[in-house]
Amino acid sequence: MTVSAANLGFPRIGPRRELKAATEAYWAGKIDEATLLQTAKDLRAATWDRQKAAGIEVIPSNDFSFYDQVLDTSVMVGAIPEIYRAIGAPDSLDVYFAMARGRQTGASPEAIEHGCAHGHGAGLDVPAQEMTKWCDTNYHYMVPEVAPDQAFALSATKPIDHFQEARALGHHTRPVILGPVTYLLLAKSKTGGFDPLSLLPRLLPVYAALLAKLAEAGADWVQIDEPALVLDLGDAARDAYRTAYAELAKVRGIKLMLATYFGALGDNLETALALPVAGLHVDLVRAPEQLDAVLAGARDDLVLSLGVIDGRNVWKADLTALLDRYDMVVRQRAEVQIAPSCSLLHTPVDLALETKLDAEIKDWLAFAAQKLEEIAILRQGLAEGRYIIWAELADNADSIASRRRSPLTRNPAVRDRLATVDAAMARRGAPFAERIKAQQAHLGLPPLPTTTIGSFPQTPEVRKARAAHGKGELDDAGYEAFLQEETVRTVKWQEDAGIDVLVHGEFERNDMVQYFGEQLAGFAFSHAGWVQSYGSRCVRPPIIFGDVSRPGPMTVKWWRYAQSLTDKPMKGMLTGPVTILNWSFVRDDQPREDTCRQIALAIRDEVLDLEAAGAKIIQIDEAALREGLPLRKADWQYYLGWAVESFRLSAAGVGDATQIHTHMCYSEFNEIIESIGAMDADVISIETSRSKMELLDAFVDYDYPNEIGPGVYDIHSPRIPSAGEMEALLLKASERLSPGQLWVNPDCGLKTRKWEDVKPALENMVAAAKAARAALVAPA
Ligand code: GLN
Ligand code: ZN
Repeated sequence: MTVSAANLGFPRIGPRRELKAATEAYWAGKIDEATLLQTAKDLRAATWDRQKAAGIEVIPSNDFSFYDQVLDTSVMVGAIPEIYRAIGAPDSLDVYFAMARGRQTGASPEAIEHGCAHGHGAGLDVPAQEMTKWCDTNYHYMVPEVAPDQAFALSATKPIDHFQEARALGHHTRPVILGPVTYLLLAKSKTGGFDPLSLLPRLLPVYAALLAKLAEAGADWVQIDEPALVLDLGDAARDAYRTAYAELAKVRGIKLMLATYFGALGDNLETALALPVAGLHVDLVRAPEQLDAVLAGARDDLVLSLGVIDGRNVWKADLTALLDRYDMVVRQRAEVQIAPSCSLLHTPVDLALETKLDAEIKDWLAFAAQKLEEIAILRQGLAEGRYIIWAELADNADSIASRRRSPLTRNPAVRDRLATVDAAMARRGAPFAERIKAQQAHLGLPPLPTTTIGSFPQTPEVRKARAAHGKGELDDAGYEAFLQEETVRTVKWQEDAGIDVLVHGEFERNDMVQYFGEQLAGFAFSHAGWVQSYGSRCVRPPIIFGDVSRPGPMTVKWWRYAQSLTDKPMKGMLTGPVTILNWSFVRDDQPREDTCRQIALAIRDEVLDLEAAGAKIIQIDEAALREGLPLRKADWQYYLGWAVESFRLSAAGVGDATQIHTHMCYSEFNEIIESIGAMDADVISIETSRSKMELLDAFVDYDYPNEIGPGVYDIHSPRIPSAGEMEALLLKASERLSPGQLWVNPDCGLKTRKWEDVKPALENMVAAAKAARAALVAPA
């Protein structure tokens, strides 16, 4: 038996987001290309050195990317749409970044830099490629665009260059490439009905040429990522796998480690095991149950890469338990690699940078750098015996036991309360048809009422004040006064603009999850725990380590203040339990749904406090409910069941006359519309303006009974829509839904926009609502 320590990929942003700083400086014209390239080179060298020092034997290369590895693949195979070709050489940074971010001729650099989290590059002459989430992660990739007449050619040499660069530094690496079948399954075509997978025969020669070049350069193994193998696939896709790997197996002198991750191979296991590859990586964190089937079906000479260290979360692994579990496996096999479940891209870089985390909690955590050490220790224990690593095992056992025993993770009051939750608590008092009457009487709103999604522009002044307050340069009273001024101005402006349901503007909130996490018990925050979200954009997810509870009201003070400034209804604004969960690193010592229910109870208490303070409308945002959907359809119902129940638990405590709103930042509802209905929010606002209301069809087919605000103002772009076009959208919506059901609002929050865009756009929106009222609602 041979056991080696392997890694599948390391975060490329740098321990202190050096890559972000460098690329943004480059985009802003502050540094030249040579400086950017040197920074990247230094980061790669440091990453390789770090892995070697940690004891990793199979070190990846080509896991570095300036923006995204799927975009890198598009450039490498020459899938560069015509509009970008005019910009420069196919392997130039200009073309690359144009595909990533669009090319600004006209739009201000700021409009590009501070684009909304959901889309970017709008308002440019050459738009960016579409971007979407990588499987069920919060990492976004650039969607490959291919045409029926697509030609492919090996157009960039990055995998070879980086292999050679590493070798010059003394590292013999295993290059990582994205596999051809997953690549085509992710690709889209503007030609309706065209299946990108049909391009496989044309794509394979490019992959074969690349592998041949890597072999020639001295590589002996290549990691070829095919995460699509854990998805629901049809026969065509499985056939594509057989065709592709039969073809690639013909390349001499190179072995393939086929990497699957984010779930079980399931019904694709047989297909995967029959492929002529030298190695197979399986995710045994997400899908430990697949181990037996993999072992039973794997050829004797297949090198198994066991993904046993969690690449998607921040907890220390229980090394003794892993040794117990994998000892036998290692003995049965000729060659095994110990690896993270997936690339470490999805974890923060280095726990050692955390100086302010509670020491007890810090001891339970492992970021990417620490995960490398865990892999190396495991390898040593498996290959050489436990006595070699007794000291490390003892330390690890202490941490695991400390976490298991710690009162910090368990709050008996929360557990007792959760045990008393029954179905009735997740049900509103009266059905919607009755509630809405009580609400209308309570609110006295016009038909097609206007509102916004919550946040108003987070201007440089707002960010500056927050930063100054964080550094202690601005005291609490000064910061408070500043926020009050912003709020007053925003409330008054909404009144003057004639908006019907007002918001306070969310100036006190840094982020819609962090703001709540910081006030809830059971959450911890890292200080440098950044994870790449897309391009240079990184997020720092909260860490939920313990039972969640709410020590006191979180938003009531600001709501009360804002309501005191106006006679119009002021919405209470909250982030929902599922969104808080999905945008955090969640404890792995109890089911996710249990943690979600705890958060739901905390939000429920806040909802009730807002109601008691006089709020007639409370919005509970569930921006991230959809992205929590499991990768396999068969698992959807279970997830949707507890996710919807959690939302309802947070909302259902209020009286009939209190109106509950929710908001969702997406527009694909077809497949989950029943669950959206089951949430039973009185009003839901959604993103629809870009699809010209067609996406409302799901609501129509389902006969959605409650009220809806289909966004009529696309806030992802600085463009100011006219009253006429928004009115036309409303009329279109009213062909699909009854005018009595409709609300008028933007697509999403306005925090990424500028006041100078927001003001005319919202004034136009109010005018559109008035015109639509006149057209649609017969005078009484
Ligand atoms: N209330 C939040 C805001 O307006 C909602 C943001 C979101 O849905 N992403 O900013
Ligand atoms: Zn949104």
